[in-house]
Amino acid sequence: MSDGLSRGKKPDEIGALVTELWKEHMQHPNPSDVMNKDIISHFVLRLVYCRTEDLRKWFLSMETTLFRHRFRLESLEVQRMLMSEFKLPFKALSNSEFEAVKEKLGQVARSINQPLPTVDSTIFKVPFEEVPELVAGRRVYMLKGDAYVAMNQVASLVVTQFRSHLSKALVLTNRKWTSMIQEQEKDRLTPIVEALSSSYLGPDYSQPKEYAEISIKDIDRVANSSFPLCMRHLFDKLREEHHLKHGGRMQLGLFLKGVGLKLDDALAFWRVEFSKKVGTEKFDKEYSYNIRHNYGKEGKRTDYTPYSCQRIITSTPGVGDHHGCPYRHFSEENLRAALSKMGVSSRTADDVMDKVRHRHYQLACTLTFEAIHSCSCDAGINHPNQYFTESQKILQQRSQAAE
Ligand code: SF4
Repeated sequence: MSDGLSRGKKPDEIGALVTELWKEHMQHPNPSDVMNKDIISHFVLRLVYCRTEDLRKWFLSMETTLFRHRFRLESLEVQRMLMSEFKLPFKALSNSEFEAVKEKLGQVARSINQPLPTVDSTIFKVPFEEVPELVAGRRVYMLKGDAYVAMNQVASLVVTQFRSHLSKALVLTNRKWTSMIQEQEKDRLTPIVEALSSSYLGPDYSQPKEYAEISIKDIDRVANSSFPLCMRHLFDKLREEHHLKHGGRMQLGLFLKGVGLKLDDALAFWRVEFSKKVGTEKFDKEYSYNIRHNYGKEGKRTDYTPYSCQRIITSTPGVGDHHGCPYRHFSEENLRAALSKMGVSSRTADDVMDKVRHRHYQLACTLTFEAIHSCSCDAGINHPNQYFTESQKILQQRSQAAE
């Protein structure tokens, strides 16, 4: 869902995506198993995404989108049942009320190509703030602060209720989680819950791919041509300040590992910069361990995976930190300056800013990619290492064609 929304898919495309994903992941011969899977996965996600304001916002937006499409796919009968289950305090118009506004309802229906309402149609009279999207799209008749909502429009009404219900539930879950469960479950659930919100389910970029193999002498050239903005920014800051805080070292270090910088080259690269600020001895003593650790050569010897866009976007850089996603964490002024430095025209920068305002950060990054490489990127950007690989692929194809 997140992927589809961040690529700017339209409502009907999201609807098709929901149906396709449902077929792919929710099939089981026993219907009650499907229902259990549906319910359990929802509550697992509630637990994972209740813990911060940002996580709650993200989850609410995804779950509401999913709910809207699933509601629309249901029959009228099921929709009515759901409405009564939500105990919506709205009553359908009586015959005499309907007669009084019939003309106006007909005008609105005609203007939006909907069937004309008849005395048998179910129309709800609700406070206009319950259906903001119908009001914004001028899709309902309004009178004295009330909106007249036809049965085929009730998805909006129910979605508003669903959203507010879920939002309250998330706040409550968070309260319980932090006051009790987090501690009680510290060995079992807590590590899973904490890791899930930042886990990434796309392709694995922990090992360099076909176009990815860089050595220390190429690094400035490829940084300029193929690093996404988040990594360029870290790279520039490292060159400028000869230092990066832990978050920045992890984000850039794992990315470089993913694009094929070997451990020895990585150590040399970081040493050259850091030693200008802290000296070689301090670097060897305090920082080199961390780099070897990222490559799985120290500690638990885990091979760490480069961060996905989702993980970077949801990180919370503090003062003096340079990690994070510039589309999310930069001010408009700084972002425009960075884009212009990358060679993005001010017209494209306007489009990028528009995506940023709607919180479509990955789409903003995709637009930047397309502008810089003068070609489309239909898959959209969801991982900095994917950005790098796609970029190298295009540049190498062009240089082969030119030979
Ligand atoms: Fe980096 Fe992803 Fe943000 Fe692009 S969208 S700048 S690749 S984190």
